[in-house]
Amino acid sequence: MARWPLYPVTVVGSWPRPAWLLDAMKKKRTDLRQLQDDATLLAIKLQEDAGVDIVSDGEQRRDNFYSFICERLDGIRLMTMADLLEYVEDKAAFENLLSALDVPAFAIKNPTVVGKLSRRAPLVLDDYHFLRAHTKKPVKVTLPGPYLLSRSSWVKNLSEAAYPTRELLADDVVGILRDEIRELAAAGADVVQLDEPVLSELVFAGKSATRTFMCAALAASASPEKELDFAVDLVNRVVDGIDGPVLALHVCRGNWSQKEDVLLQGSYDALIPHFRRMRVQQFVLEYATPRAGSLEALRDLPAGALVGFGAVNPRTTEIEPPAEIAARVRRLAGIISPERIHLNPDCGFGTFADRPVATADVASAKLQALAAAATVLRA
Ligand SMILES: [Zn+2]
Repeated sequence: MARWPLYPVTVVGSWPRPAWLLDAMKKKRTDLRQLQDDATLLAIKLQEDAGVDIVSDGEQRRDNFYSFICERLDGIRLMTMADLLEYVEDKAAFENLLSALDVPAFAIKNPTVVGKLSRRAPLVLDDYHFLRAHTKKPVKVTLPGPYLLSRSSWVKNLSEAAYPTRELLADDVVGILRDEIRELAAAGADVVQLDEPVLSELVFAGKSATRTFMCAALAASASPEKELDFAVDLVNRVVDGIDGPVLALHVCRGNWSQKEDVLLQGSYDALIPHFRRMRVQQFVLEYATPRAGSLEALRDLPAGALVGFGAVNPRTTEIEPPAEIAARVRRLAGIISPERIHLNPDCGFGTFADRPVATADVASAKLQALAAAATVLRA
């Protein structure tokens, strides 16, 4: 029945793109598609060689973990932070914020809604088929979550003609993600993961911060409680009644910089009550970074929910010793049963194409460490 061994090793999604792919993306070369195929085959091979049990396509076709949807949807356009500066309410404050948080305004692009959304092409179904055709391992497919998408892509001055409110946009976002996941389920995807990093901005940004940069969470938020209720509702509407794949939710505290001190900090405690209301089967969480707080919080996850345990830090170059990883996993296995534990890095290794947090060599070595730890744990 089990699709994978005990303590399966997996990834959060992205893999650092090779230099030749980045160059081709920049130049928009006509053979980009072929090069993306090649880079994907390489990402799959490196994961398999490292001992990963549930592989992803490394998101090699994406500019970042959510911006790629612009190529596949009508009504949404990629804009750089520099473009958006013209439209945010407090331009100077936003610019200061980006620089304080080590985010170059030109480097990160935000999908921005400028018309009615519709699927021009599948978001990830074609990528899934390619992945499936090139590995015998179970596979994970990642999608940006409905809260992230409706929060970050609704920029009042640009979006309100098509969608007077963010809630109306969210209705269409939910429909699009549902259609996609239903198709992935029918096609046999093993794990479908929704990435919702902005949830951590709601609970960890602190009372002093009026607005933080968190994967371009541009729209001012209502109270955190209201926003979390909204997010829970959207996630539940997306996954409602879909059977087949393990439906997972990834929440980290940001993966845009190697400077740990600019990233958000805080225990998952504050999110657990909201996780408990979400009808997903797995929570993919970061625990290699000390910013993530205590494991004890996981005791209160819904009974039976799987945990994707972040056990290596994608932003550091030192490789975590397998014995240490195994010791930390054993501590978790004293809190939730071993059958519920998957092993993964805290986040992707190349969330943003231009600013990967790791090299492919480091990423490989970290996954090998996870696999070595899994071997010890299984024995
Ligand atoms: Zn993440």
